[in-house]
Amino acid sequence: MLNINYNDLTTTFKSKLKADEILYLLYGLKTVVRQGFYNSEKDNIQKFCQKNDLFISWSDFKIIIQDKDSNFSNKGLKVPLNNQEQGMQFCYISKNERLALLAQLFEKQNKHARLGELLGYPICCIAYFQNSFNDQNTNPEITQIKTGILSLSQRNVDVCLLSHFPCSSDCFESKVIAKERLELLEQIAADREIEVKKILKI
Ligand SMILES: [Zn+2]
Repeated sequence: MLNINYNDLTTTFKSKLKADEILYLLYGLKTVVRQGFYNSEKDNIQKFCQKNDLFISWSDFKIIIQDKDSNFSNKGLKVPLNNQEQGMQFCYISKNERLALLAQLFEKQNKHARLGELLGYPICCIAYFQNSFNDQNTNPEITQIKTGILSLSQRNVDVCLLSHFPCSSDCFESKVIAKERLELLEQIAADREIEVKKILKI
């Protein structure tokens, strides 16, 4: 058992979704995590990784959120780091330095499928994303999935079990991933598990 306190994680990462992902990483349910941070947040993240023997690599671009009205946006504009506007820089965190660097490289080269594999997305969902994501559709969320373990609809209140877009409301691979994450939360952060279940109506 690692000496990790869930509340400390949320304080460092300023988001429960991000804290959840770091738990999955620390407990081996994910090999690489990709998250976005503002400049002011980077120091804390960097320190956390150092303390917990995690490697971190940073994108050489930043993302400026496009639809500022929504709490949780998928729309982002890639700009160079020296752009004046406030943007989020991506980082790739892993226990394995090579994988953290590889994820950064795949994103830079727009190799979305390879990146998706590293991030642990199911092959069926990677194919779905590649077929449905484009400039006109930057949010290939299946919005009919309002509740349950595959729902992405509560991300704006920091609740979701997946970090990818499931290919269908019945995607077996995604269900396996969501279930093992819920089990981990139950063991490590019981209050969080209760919250997730309540909000997703599981
Ligand atoms: Zn799938």
